[in-house]
Amino acid sequence: MDNDASLPVDHPSAHATLPKWLHAPRLSGLPPLDSSSSPPALSFEFFPPRTEALENQLWACIRRLEPLAPRFVSVTYGAGGSTQERTHATVTRIVAETSLIPAAHLTCVAASRGEVDDVARRYYDAGVRHIVALRGDVPGGGEYVPQPDGYAYASDLVEGLRRIGDFEITVAAYAETHPAAISPEADLDNLKRKLDAGATRAITNYFFDTDVYLRFLDRCLAAGITAPIVPGIMPVSNFSQAVKFSAMCGASVPDWLSHMFDGTEDDPETRRMVAAVIAAEQVRLLRANGIDEFHFYTLNRPDLTYAIAHILGARPKAQGVKPA
Ligand SMILES: Cc1cc2nc3c(=O)[nH]c(=O)nc-3n(C[C@H](O)[C@H](O)[C@H](O)COP(=O)(O)OP(=O)(O)OC[C@H]3O[C@@H](n4cnc5c(N)ncnc54)[C@H](O)[C@@H]3O)c2cc1C
Repeated sequence: MDNDASLPVDHPSAHATLPKWLHAPRLSGLPPLDSSSSPPALSFEFFPPRTEALENQLWACIRRLEPLAPRFVSVTYGAGGSTQERTHATVTRIVAETSLIPAAHLTCVAASRGEVDDVARRYYDAGVRHIVALRGDVPGGGEYVPQPDGYAYASDLVEGLRRIGDFEITVAAYAETHPAAISPEADLDNLKRKLDAGATRAITNYFFDTDVYLRFLDRCLAAGITAPIVPGIMPVSNFSQAVKFSAMCGASVPDWLSHMFDGTEDDPETRRMVAAVIAAEQVRLLRANGIDEFHFYTLNRPDLTYAIAHILGARPKAQGVKPA
């Protein structure tokens, strides 16, 4: 097999393909998923629609994913009255018309404590018992300044929610550190503060390199955090949009990812297949590392999420009963 080594470098066979392949490192591949083990716990995130067409798209997405019996589905929230009403309407419709358990996102931005508390009470009265508590971002960008009579940070909101009702509370985590944090350590302290205040789970901002997330888990554990830090998975259906969004939220876009999408700009079919492969590899690698809860940023599009959940072992269940 080392015959080539004795060939002059300019010999036509010196760089022959097969010998090169035979000298490459041998990988056994991702371990197969064990069909006898239970599928991981899943949650799906939606955003509230702005138009009737988007409303139809959202509900088609919800109906498609509902049979996978996720642990919960969450609905995002924006600053400003109309977007808040859309979140409320979507969450209460999920309660009324589906077997799903909704989690309502709630933020601190541009509202007094009293206003935020009122929204939380309305959710409680509507039977919603799970809140994703966030600081939120200033609409249109710009530096965040706490409202004088508002909740300043998500940890304050978690404390406030604990006073209002017996909510299950989830918070945000940043495997690559929140862009406004003064240091990774301060950001980790903040995550611990949110969990100590009463949150029972964190969901990470999306990431593309699995190592980034696994290293973050090590740091969480070293900081004394033991609550689940659920990986947020973003199946990338539009790469250029993902690049823009990643720059804003502090998620790094590795070179290998742009290389994967390179040349697919006008080829949506190939792009979708590439996206499915990337996300499937990511979740399989996480699963192989013992992770058994996943949160999907669906962007109100079900197909990639459905396929990846299927790869993880999720199968449709009979509907009509809310998951335990
Ligand atoms: C899973 C998930 C869901 C999301 N859903 C939404 C949504 O529905 N709507 C929306 O608008 N946005 C949403 N976001 C984005 C989020 O609102 C932004 O990332 C926001 O900038 C930070 O929110 P947070 O809850 O992490 O803030 P916080 O935990 O309050 O932290 C914000 C920043 O402030 C720092 N900080 C915290 N406490 C202090 C303190 N006492 N003094 C100084 N600095 C402090 C932190 O280190 C961090 O840098 C979501 C993010 C994730 C990961």
